[in-house]
Amino acid sequence: MEDISKFYRTGGQKFAVLDHISLEVRQGEFVAIQGPSGSGKSTLMNIMGCLDQADGGTYTLDGKKVSAMSDNQLADMRNRKIGFVFQSYNLLPGLSAFDNVELPLIYQGKRSSERRKASLEMLEAVGLSAHLRHKPSELSGGQQQRVAIARALATAPSILLADEPTGALDSRNGAEVMSLLAKLHANGMTIILITHDHQVAARAERVIYIRDGTIA
Ligand code: ATP
Ligand code: MG
Repeated sequence: MEDISKFYRTGGQKFAVLDHISLEVRQGEFVAIQGPSGSGKSTLMNIMGCLDQADGGTYTLDGKKVSAMSDNQLADMRNRKIGFVFQSYNLLPGLSAFDNVELPLIYQGKRSSERRKASLEMLEAVGLSAHLRHKPSELSGGQQQRVAIARALATAPSILLADEPTGALDSRNGAEVMSLLAKLHANGMTIILITHDHQVAARAERVIYIRDGTIA
């Protein structure tokens, strides 16, 4: 990202949420973005994750200039390159762990045998092989978040973006999720973790601290 800016207009006033942010994350890095509430972390993640476009500056992802893309190209980039994990898991409550993980592969049009293989592999990687048929309500918070991580990884993204992935968890379940992220990183995954918690941020290789939309 080079010189990325994002503005919001509220009540006729223009307000810079991201104010000329420049940063680079290399393949295989585990980076935390830390900052207080309202500092612009989620706004930055939405741009990194191709959910939203910046108003100014240049964003290049895997050598492609995202900041010049149409909405369709942006969606394609997002589906192929990005895995998202959110504080609130966002699992479908009526579906089993397996079916939740398989869902993005159905959207991608993958064949049934291929979907099954990838889903089982990912659920095994997050330690949930024994819970395939459990619905979200039949899993602990930490287990639900691990299903969400398996789902994010099922499509083999280039980057895992996690916005406060431990925010809804108690310390034991939070530690479980952080150990999983550390393991994924050790296996070569690029991870960008967003948090307001310095103990969580300290698990990353590098911390980018943002305050009032600028890198502090
Ligand atoms: P938190 O730690 O509480 O999740 P954050 O660092 O993720 O905070 P953002 O959600 O990026 O913060 O919001 C940054 C600022 O932009 C806040 O002041 C917020 O009120 C403002 N903001 C976010 N989205 C919008 C919007 N759609 N319209 C107007 N202002 C917005
Ligand atoms: Mg946020």
